[in-house]
Amino acid sequence: MSARRRPVVVVGAGPVGLTAALVLARGGVPVTVLDSGPGLSTASRASTFHPSTLDLLDELGVASALRTAGREVHEIQWRDLEQRVLHRMRYDTLTGHTAHPYRVHVEQSRLTPLLLAALEAHPHAEVCFSSTVVDAGPRGDDAVRLRIDGPAGARTTLDAGHVVAADGSRSTVRAALGLPSEATEYPWYALRVVTTTALDELLPGLAPLAYVRDPGLSFSVLGMPDHWRLIFRIPADVPREQVVERPAVRALLERALPSRATAIELADAHTYRLASYVLPHYRAGRVLFAGDAAHLTSTAGGMNMNCGLHDAVAWGRALTRIHDGEADERILDGVAAERRSAVTDKVIPRSEARTAGIDDAAGLRRALEGIGRIAADPARVTDYLFAASLLDCAPRPRQLTP
Ligand SMILES: Cc1cc2nc3c(=O)[nH]c(=O)nc-3n(C[C@H](O)[C@H](O)[C@H](O)COP(=O)(O)OP(=O)(O)OC[C@H]3O[C@@H](n4cnc5c(N)ncnc54)[C@H](O)[C@@H]3O)c2cc1C
Repeated sequence: MSARRRPVVVVGAGPVGLTAALVLARGGVPVTVLDSGPGLSTASRASTFHPSTLDLLDELGVASALRTAGREVHEIQWRDLEQRVLHRMRYDTLTGHTAHPYRVHVEQSRLTPLLLAALEAHPHAEVCFSSTVVDAGPRGDDAVRLRIDGPAGARTTLDAGHVVAADGSRSTVRAALGLPSEATEYPWYALRVVTTTALDELLPGLAPLAYVRDPGLSFSVLGMPDHWRLIFRIPADVPREQVVERPAVRALLERALPSRATAIELADAHTYRLASYVLPHYRAGRVLFAGDAAHLTSTAGGMNMNCGLHDAVAWGRALTRIHDGEADERILDGVAAERRSAVTDKVIPRSEARTAGIDDAAGLRRALEGIGRIAADPARVTDYLFAASLLDCAPRPRQLTP
């Protein structure tokens, strides 16, 4: 039996897979995307788009619609439990370094339909839902063979010149190739409390990104277009079902926002795990790993998906160059190493630094003094936000490339 063959197959129609596919499609490379779901995921997950990512999404023609759907964040605040602003940093200090000197808060599920619609404009791109990759392996020297469980149980086979594996943290492609997949859980998990109450009306001057810091209770506040989120770190030994019970959430809100808690409408409370994982090599022959299939990090700082979108652009550009005959396979090792070091050297240390030392009074005082020194010096604010926005490790947008 001869299998159908495509130059590039992307496994996973999450934000990372669709971004890789769109870069390829715009570059004229025929591409097939396979996803096990019946359609795009609507789950509430990542919500932060950093300047570096907005620059790249702009190049793909989807940033402006995403920005319209989201809430722009122009300032980060650090506050104490009495809601006094201790320090603030403004994103306009990044003007000249990015076309988007702000971050945007919006659900990742608002990005994927934009990417899908943009892909549909390219006849040489196809997206197949209800298509689960169940096995992957080399096929001769120049292909990867994918076995697929398709709609209505039909099993098919597809050969790809290259595969971009963007099939998430439980990647089947990674398992099929026998690659390590054990993530390390942090000793805490996240509790996300959602309210439709406008917290910036309860707390005038509240920025849509605020880190509330106190040795007894620290948490983050995120303003979304139509709701607000409070994110707490909960020690791993506290049962998850216990922390999401309404009386427990109410009691926590009383401690977090004393005297305002009764005015807060509680819409939802749920937990999610925080873990870290980095694939030892992002390239396994003709299979290239991107996004959660390659790395997981703490969600503090909101960098993991952003970094995955950067992987997608880097792989998409490299494969386009190979397809056009401008480069050969050897460029893939360089991209793999560069994208992996973005996670190990930048994303993980920065994400962990967000919450380092905040659990004891002395550590928190030192951390806040450090933030205060940066906030007082405009040049250091630029450096801090440049790094927090991953502008130093994202692919450069073409219009800014010298
Ligand atoms: C609650 C929560 C909050 C988060 N907050 C943030 C944040 O603020 N900032 C941030 O940067 N990141 C955040 N993240 C992480 C972010 O959501 C992920 O990094 C992002 O979704 C990764 O995108 P992806 O495309 O790599 O993987 P996914 O979004 O997981 O997509 C993988 C796709 O692959 C498909 N798939 C899986 N297996 C197969 C198979 N065998 N065959 C075919 N298709 C398959 C799935 O159906 C899915 O559509 C958060 C995560 C969670 C859970």
